[in-house]
Amino acid sequence: MSKQTPVYFEVAVAAPIHQTLTYAPPAGVAQLPPGHRLLVPLGRRQVTGYLLDCAAQPPALKDGGNDRQPGGKIRAALEVLDDEPLFPAAMVPFFRWIADYYHHPIGEVIQNALPAGLSRRSTRIIKLTDRGAEKLPSLAQSTASKRNSPLPLSDWLPELLARGELSATKSATVIRRRPPELKRWQDEGLIEIDNRLRRESVRAQTETIIFLPALPPAKLPPDAAANIKKHTTKKGSDPFSSSVALKPSEDKTLALLTELAANNPNGVPRRELLKRYPGAGRALKGLLARNQISTFEQRRYRDPFGEAPPFFPRPERLTDEQSAVMARLTPAIEGRQYTPFLLHGITGSGKTEIYLRAAEAALAAGRQVLVLVPEIALATQLEGHFCSRFGNAVALLHSGLSGGQRYDQWSLLLSGEAQIAIGARSAIFAPLADPGLIIVDEEHDPAYKQEDGLRYNARDLALLRGVKQQATVLLGSATPAVSSYHAARQGKFELLQMTRRVEDRPLPAVEIVDLKAVRTVSGLPPLFSPQLIRALRENLAAGQQSLVFLNRRGFANLVLCKDCGRPVQCRHCQVTLTYHKKADLLLCHHCGYRQPRASLCGHCHSGTLVPAGFGTERLEEELRRHFPAARLARLDQDTSRDRKEFLKVLKAVRDHEVDILIGTQMITKGHHFPRVTLVGIVWADAGLGIPDYKAAERTFQLLTQVTGRAGRGEQPGRVLVQTLQSEHYSIALARAHDYQGLYEQEIALRQRLGFPPWGRLINLRFDGEKEEKVRELALRLGEIARGRADSGIKVLGPAPAPLSRLKDRFRWQLLLKGRGVAPLHRLCQALLGEYARLAGASTVKLSLDVDPENM
Ligand code: ADP
Ligand code: ZN
Ligand code: ZN
Repeated sequence: MSKQTPVYFEVAVAAPIHQTLTYAPPAGVAQLPPGHRLLVPLGRRQVTGYLLDCAAQPPALKDGGNDRQPGGKIRAALEVLDDEPLFPAAMVPFFRWIADYYHHPIGEVIQNALPAGLSRRSTRIIKLTDRGAEKLPSLAQSTASKRNSPLPLSDWLPELLARGELSATKSATVIRRRPPELKRWQDEGLIEIDNRLRRESVRAQTETIIFLPALPPAKLPPDAAANIKKHTTKKGSDPFSSSVALKPSEDKTLALLTELAANNPNGVPRRELLKRYPGAGRALKGLLARNQISTFEQRRYRDPFGEAPPFFPRPERLTDEQSAVMARLTPAIEGRQYTPFLLHGITGSGKTEIYLRAAEAALAAGRQVLVLVPEIALATQLEGHFCSRFGNAVALLHSGLSGGQRYDQWSLLLSGEAQIAIGARSAIFAPLADPGLIIVDEEHDPAYKQEDGLRYNARDLALLRGVKQQATVLLGSATPAVSSYHAARQGKFELLQMTRRVEDRPLPAVEIVDLKAVRTVSGLPPLFSPQLIRALRENLAAGQQSLVFLNRRGFANLVLCKDCGRPVQCRHCQVTLTYHKKADLLLCHHCGYRQPRASLCGHCHSGTLVPAGFGTERLEEELRRHFPAARLARLDQDTSRDRKEFLKVLKAVRDHEVDILIGTQMITKGHHFPRVTLVGIVWADAGLGIPDYKAAERTFQLLTQVTGRAGRGEQPGRVLVQTLQSEHYSIALARAHDYQGLYEQEIALRQRLGFPPWGRLINLRFDGEKEEKVRELALRLGEIARGRADSGIKVLGPAPAPLSRLKDRFRWQLLLKGRGVAPLHRLCQALLGEYARLAGASTVKLSLDVDPENM
C-alpha cells in the first residue's frame, strides 16, 4: 500500500451495535495491526473500539454499497489506546462468527473475551461553570476538597447525597439513574456534563532489577534483555568516583548483591535485596552514581498459582490404549488441519497423560496449546500436571485470579512467552496466534455454558476455533455428552477409546440402597441408611478415606413456617431460601439475598420457622455425631470461596489428613485421590425431578464421575448409591458402568422428541420489572413467530421460565425448535427486528439463548 492510499479502519465498538463501523485513522496514524484498542466517537459519546481490519477501500464500495456508518460520513478515531494489540489478528474471524451465531454485538463479544479490568468504561464527568460555583457554594466546596475538578460523577455523588444536596430515596439506584437536580442544574448552565473514558485500573507491574557489576545493555543476558523497559544507569557519572572509598552501608550492600547474584544470573530483584537489608535503598543510589551497579525496570508478572501445585513425574511408558490413541493423535497434530477427536476414556484410564503428550506434540510442531477445564476445581489438578511437564510455558486464565494476575497471564500468552493456556470457560478466548491443539477436558460439563450476557458454549467454540485456526480439537470425557457421542458415531469426530483403568485397576463395585425400603420412625427416608453408616465405619477402621457426596450446599434447602406450613421464599426470586447454620442465615442461592433465621413468616407472621430438607452442611454435622473421632472436611461453594482454603483442603486429603470428605460436585471432578476407597452418594435422584430433557444424562454423568473417584489407588473401590428411584434407567446404568446403554436410551428418546442432536433449539428469554409487560411482549412475539415460522420450525410457548422471577425481574421464554440451524437463525433475525419495533421493547429485555443447556 503506497503512502497516499487512504486507510479505513473497520472497528467493533463496545456498544450494543450489531454491525462494525468505519473510521478514519486518528491523526498521525497510518496503519495499525488488528487487535488494537481505539477511542472512537459514537454519536455524542466516546467509546472503546477494537480494530478488526485496515482497508484501502471504504466499506461502502467493498460491500457493494452497504454504507456501514449511518449518515455516510466517515469520522476519525480519536486515539490509539495501547502500544500493543490486545488480541492476535488471527482471532478476528472467530469473533465475527461468534457475533453472528449468538446474535450478539461484535464489540461486546470482544469485550467479553478480553480479561476483566482491561475494558474501559465511560464515566460522566461534571464541571462546575463559573455561575454554578457561585450559585452552588456547597457543591463548589465539595468538588474543591477533592483533587482538581472536573470530577467523575461517581466520586462526589455519594457525598452530595450525604449532605442532603440531592434527593435520595434509595441512594444506590439514584446514583445509577442520575438525580433530577442534575438535569435542572445542567439546563440552568450551572454545570457541564461530559462523557469521558475512565482510565484502566489494571496495569503492568514493573520492578527494579540490579546488575553487578554495571553492565551495558548490550551485554545483558538474553532473558533479561527481552523484558527490559528502561535502562536507568546514571549517565555522565564521574569516571573517578568509583575510586572513592565506599561507605560502610554501600560496602555491605555490594557484598550482599554479590552473594545474591550467585543465585540470580539474570539480575537481583530489588525487593530480594531489601528483604535481606532494608536499609539498602540509599546505598543503591550511591552505588549507581559510582557505576558500581546498573538497574533496570523489568516487567513483573503477578504469580497466579498461589500455592505451588504438586509435582507429577512423566510416566516412562504409556499403556497400550494410550499408545494407540497417541498413534492417531500425533499425525493429526502434525498435519495442521482442523481435526476433531472425541476421547472417550473411563475414569482413571489416564486421559491426562494423553493431554500432556498431545501438548508435547503441538509444541514440537511450533504451535500453541489451549486447555479448557470446567472449573477452578479441576484446573488445580491439571495445572499441576502441566506445570510439572512444561514449567513456565504455562499460563492460567480463570476466575480465581485477580484482575492484575489475569492481565499478566494474558500478556504472557499474547507475547508468546507462554505457549500453553489453561483455564475455565472464558479461556477459549486466550490470545493465541496459532493454537495447534485445543483440549476440552470433561467436555460434557454444563459449566462450559455461560448463562448470562453472551450465552456461549466454550466446548462448541473450541470446535469452531479449531476450524478457524486449523487446530486439532480433543474433547475428552468418561461420559461424553450424548450429542458429542452422536457426532462421533456419524463420523463428524474421530472416536478414541480407552476402556481400562491404568494398571488394570478394576472399576468400583456399585451398590444401590433403596431408600424407600429403609424404615424410620418419622416415615421420612433417613439421611444416612444403616448400610452407608456401616460402610463408612468399616472404611474408617481400615484406615481408608471416604467421600460423601450431595449436590446441595447449606444446612437445609427448605425452611418451613410451623404455623401455616408454607416455605420461606426469596423476596426477589421464585425460589425457597436455604438455611446456613454456621452463618445462622437464610440465603438465596440465586441472588444472594439473606435474612436472619429469627425473622417472621411472610404469610402469617408467625415466629417459628423450622429448617427442613438437607444440604452438605447438615451432612457434616450428622457425620460428626456418628463418627466423633473421624477427621472430616467439607468442600462446597461455602467452604472454598477462597482458593487458598480450597487448595489446603485438597492437599489435606492427598496427605491423608482427612478421613471423610463431604462435598458437592466440586469433589467429583477430575481429582485423583488414591486412598479413597469408599464413595457414598446421599441422594442420587436429586437431579431427576428437574424439568430438563438432559436430566437423565446429567444424573448418569454425575454418578459416573463421583463413582470414578473410588478405587484409583492400589485398593479396590466401593460405591453406595442411596436413591428413591432405584428403578430409573440412569441410575441402573450408572451402576453397571454402562455408557453405551445410556447413550442408546437417550438418543432414541431425543429422536422421538426432536431434541438435540436431532434438532436445534433457540430459547428467547424475556425479562423485565413488570410481570404484565413481560407477558404481553412474550405473547406478542410468540404470535409473530408462529406467523413467520416455516413448517420445519416449532414454536413452543411462550410460558413463564422455570425460575419465573429472579432478582426482582419476571421471566418468560419462547422456545424455537427446528431441524436445521439456518432457518432458525433467519427466524431469530426477523424476530429481533420485530421486537425492536414493538412498544414494550424498552421495558422488557429480550436475550437469545442459542443451543440452551437448561431446558
Ligand atoms: P482420568 O483422567 O482418565 O480419570 P488420570 O489421567 O487421572 O485418569 O490417570 C489416573 C492415574 O494413572 C493417575 O495417577 C496417572 O498419573 C496415572 N497414569 C496415567 N498414565 C499412566 C502411565 N502410562 N503409567 C503409569 N501411570 C499412569
Ligand atoms: Zn406462616
Ligand atoms: Zn433471590
